[in-house]
Amino acid sequence: MRFCVLASGSHGNATYVEDTDGALLIDCGITARQCMQRMQERNIDPATIKGIIITHEHNDHIKGLPLLAARLKIPVLTSPKTWAKLNLKAEFISLRSELEIEFAGFKLRPFNITHDACDPLALVLASGKQQLGYCTDLGEITSSVYDNLKNCSGVIIESNHQPALLARGPYPAWLKSRVASPQGHLSNQEAMDLLESICTSNLQTVVAAHLSQVNNSPALLRDLWQERINKFIHKPDLYIAGQDTPLPIIQLPA
Ligand SMILES: [Zn+2]
Ligand SMILES: [Zn+2]
Repeated sequence: MRFCVLASGSHGNATYVEDTDGALLIDCGITARQCMQRMQERNIDPATIKGIIITHEHNDHIKGLPLLAARLKIPVLTSPKTWAKLNLKAEFISLRSELEIEFAGFKLRPFNITHDACDPLALVLASGKQQLGYCTDLGEITSSVYDNLKNCSGVIIESNHQPALLARGPYPAWLKSRVASPQGHLSNQEAMDLLESICTSNLQTVVAAHLSQVNNSPALLRDLWQERINKFIHKPDLYIAGQDTPLPIIQLPA
């Protein structure tokens, strides 16, 4: 299994995941044109994509979806409640929390997370012994987040904000409380605690994702995360996903 985070952050999210039988896109929150361009930059063939998974209905996860789903003529996989909000003409495949389905050669295991959307999901994509966890846009770490991510070989987890930067930043008070609430986004500290709790010898790769461009700093985040990882017995490779540049394609070990 290999994957490429094409974009990540509050201005748009999209991740490509490929295995031998085909590929999936998780979220399409950049324009369809940007999505195609970024795939081209990484030599990814869009014809491999068999479906688009939508985690929730916020614009930074669906902006390019109508056009891309129509252009590629592929189904949309999401929860029934989220699907009802999307108002799309496309084939719909239902994802329900804790109900595993097989699609495009992957076993998909969605699970609920807490976020201020109608029915937000995170998920694990499994193929053989490889498992990739995708978990962004969550306000708190519930036991189901931990249970689902604990055996992954790769994880993409949200590390949205540094609490001190959020507190003294320019957001209005209501937005600061929304971001920090259990229905909002994970702070760097919460994300590192999550990482520590799921880091077994299986975990090869970790991607810090959905960074706030206002209330976080990639350099600060890299220092904090690397310092924490250096204390682990088993040290996964760290990548930091960005808003404007796709990450390299990352191969999970067989
Ligand atoms: Zn988001
Ligand atoms: Zn969201």
